[in-house]
Amino acid sequence: MKITRFLRESYSDYPGKVASVVFTQACNYKCPSCHAKQILNSDYSVSQEQVLQYLNPRKGFVNAVVLCGGEPILQPDIKNFVKQIKDLGFFVKLDTNGSHPEILQDLLKENLVDYAAMDIKGPPYLYKQLAGSPININNLKKAISIVAKFPDYEFRTTICPLIRQDKISFISKSGFNTPQLAVSDLERLKLPVAKGKKICGKYSVACCGDSKFLGNFFISPEEAVDAAKMIVQATGNNTHKYFLQKFVSRSQEEMIDERFAKENLPLELQETPKPHLEAILKAVSVHLPNTKIR
Ligand code: SF4
Repeated sequence: MKITRFLRESYSDYPGKVASVVFTQACNYKCPSCHAKQILNSDYSVSQEQVLQYLNPRKGFVNAVVLCGGEPILQPDIKNFVKQIKDLGFFVKLDTNGSHPEILQDLLKENLVDYAAMDIKGPPYLYKQLAGSPININNLKKAISIVAKFPDYEFRTTICPLIRQDKISFISKSGFNTPQLAVSDLERLKLPVAKGKKICGKYSVACCGDSKFLGNFFISPEEAVDAAKMIVQATGNNTHKYFLQKFVSRSQEEMIDERFAKENLPLELQETPKPHLEAILKAVSVHLPNTKIR
């Protein structure tokens, strides 16, 4: 196991349990909105023996282990590692991007995971863009159907920004990244920005109050609904726990795509605005009634 970080105690990563968190190195996606750049690029520095030695005498105080990353399922010896954790009597939660349904199936068959949490990046037609890598949508749907069979599970979507090829509305503190397109785009949206001027406060204000405009920068309510429909189609039911999470920008050192770094975004777009999340909650709850904002 290539482990880059180990958090000894967490009260928020496994619902209702005190958990240790294992961050594994490497991911097969390159989501532009990911802020785990340091985890993905660091050398692995914690051995699996160190993790097991820490856990062994603490059973009772710590009751679970969360495997996240990166993508934990890429670690060739994950099964053996999880078996050892289970043998010590700990619950195991796996955070996954769902790219390897065959490994999920194997873990399910052997009862090695108690709680599976799968990221749904967005609707199928935006997946490649949101994940920053080619995606096999059939594998993704298989993974969704497998995750729904674990003893406990959740799906979650971070309402993150994306750079659109068709309707670019990406902006930065220092101006537009594609001036010739951005200015016409802003005109099309009838936003009060003078041609040739750099970004001004007015744009952000207009943006933040209106989900229609925000949907050009973040995943839109319609796109979030299409992501929810994919879950319903893949599993044949709509009862799943589904969480909408806000995107929170971090520093350039942490973000995979520096254009989404704090230094490069106006304050109002550094987090998914609450009204936008609420508009998405309303739209998505029609299809997945058990949806919450986390
Ligand atoms: S956010 Fe994307 S790139 Fe980052 S760890 Fe998760 S799946 Fe990998």
